[in-house]
Amino acid sequence: MWDDDERDSKRSLGIRDKQILYRRANKKCENPACGKKIEFDEMQVGHKTSWARGGSTTLKNSVCLCYRCNKLQGTDGWATFLKKQGILDPKIKIKNSLEALGITQLKFLAKKHNIKVKGTVVETLFDSSIKAPTKRQYINRLSGIITEKELSSVPKQQSTQVKRKKKRKSSDSWW
Ligand SMILES: [Zn+2]
Repeated sequence: MWDDDERDSKRSLGIRDKQILYRRANKKCENPACGKKIEFDEMQVGHKTSWARGGSTTLKNSVCLCYRCNKLQGTDGWATFLKKQGILDPKIKIKNSLEALGITQLKFLAKKHNIKVKGTVVETLFDSSIKAPTKRQYINRLSGIITEKELSSVPKQQSTQVKRKKKRKSSDSWW
């Protein structure tokens, strides 16, 4: 569900945003299965979440597509569009891979990139101590930075088979 007041009422990007989008995409169609070089005039602005499904017209929600791919996407969301082509969204793929890593491996990657993941400060009446950062905090910081290539270079850890954590928190199931 979305709030209609929350999104822009305009359905297409302004010229400046289009130029930013075009440059951000390196003048290429952003469909990983395509990657065709396109002229600025040819660019079609695709929505990651389609307008029909409540996606807003923002740079964040926009993708630079060639005519063919824009047609191909239709009203599908970006993830569905990729899935239909047999492509896993690289960002999701990396996040999944990171989740399969152990905390030592995540620390290793963070160190390599000079990323300091802060723990949570726990304050008590007399004292404050720092709780070590959680796996989730590492993953959030790393997921935008780590490349697939790097993931394959992470030293293997024995028994990394992490059991899937229960997604539901108790607060979600109060009903
Ligand atoms: Zn294309």
